[in-house]
Amino acid sequence: MKLEHSNLSTELSLFCPRRSCLCYQSLDNKITKDGTYTTKSDNVPRQMFYCDGGQHRFSETGYSQLFCKHGSFKEYEQAAKMSCLGISTDGIADVLSKDSRTIATWQLSISKKANIFHEDICLMMTLATFFLQMDELWAYLGKKKKQLWVFIGFEVETRFWINFELGSRTTFTATKLVRKINQYFNLSLLKKPLKITTDKLAAYKNAIESVLDNNDYVYLQIVKKRIKMRLITVKKHFVKGTKDDFTGKSQNTSYIERFNLTLRQRVSYLQRKSLGYCKNKSNFNHLLWINLYDYNYRHYHKSLRFPVVGQKAFRFNKRWNQRTPAMAMGATQEALTWRLLFLVPIRVTH
Ligand SMILES: [Zn+2]
Repeated sequence: MKLEHSNLSTELSLFCPRRSCLCYQSLDNKITKDGTYTTKSDNVPRQMFYCDGGQHRFSETGYSQLFCKHGSFKEYEQAAKMSCLGISTDGIADVLSKDSRTIATWQLSISKKANIFHEDICLMMTLATFFLQMDELWAYLGKKKKQLWVFIGFEVETRFWINFELGSRTTFTATKLVRKINQYFNLSLLKKPLKITTDKLAAYKNAIESVLDNNDYVYLQIVKKRIKMRLITVKKHFVKGTKDDFTGKSQNTSYIERFNLTLRQRVSYLQRKSLGYCKNKSNFNHLLWINLYDYNYRHYHKSLRFPVVGQKAFRFNKRWNQRTPAMAMGATQEALTWRLLFLVPIRVTH
């Protein structure tokens, strides 16, 4: 059986999530809907399913990977939300009166789901145009001695955060980032040449040249010169293509720079001049995946809204149609919720 999610543009295949079952995660198994139930702590109806191969019933909560993790769905949701507000793991543990190790396990589970969900969604999208901006942010690692860089790929028209890569500020990390973007969207199928802008870091140029060699792309580097933190000049260096390829407001890296600011605000490890820096690289990775889901699928982006047409201007009438970056991409129909992520039937391998 396939589950049609009203909010997602794609269908998802159901499978049996019970580890002890013979048909565990098998796709040639017949799964049927089998009633609903509610619990005292949570008034939202939950779906029951019947697994034909193993002949047992199971609840949709089986898909969550959060079973027996010492919390309720409400708490998982609160922890996820707080992770996207710049609150540290210890802070969340304090608010929810849990151990910080418990919160770290929740974050791990949620981030894995977010990661696989995002990759599945990206792999199903086909796009006509693509305007990529890339940039990197620094953060501390360990005892503030080491610097850690977060490389970010960003689609400008839809404000979609494509992916990120943690590592040193080298061609190696940049190549990993570009390779993944190419893998997600199959960029050779684009109808118009791929537009790219980055700053002057040579790592991007090397990465783009090695990965996108066979693709049709235009590439602009923005070279900013600063003296004592003050911006002196901005020069445009067209690596591939000319001025005419970059029409409108596209000869810049402003969009991703604004996005970096949003991210610094929301990820506690990226906040400057604070003690909440990163002590463990994998925790950082988890937090970024949780934030990626929050940013792309949950939040409306103000600049993506468009006016409601055919309605009289009246105080109580809805004036704007709001959109999330994923909606602008055509991946979802509505803003998604944390609950949807927890319960979405996606196979997570441990
Ligand atoms: Zn089963």
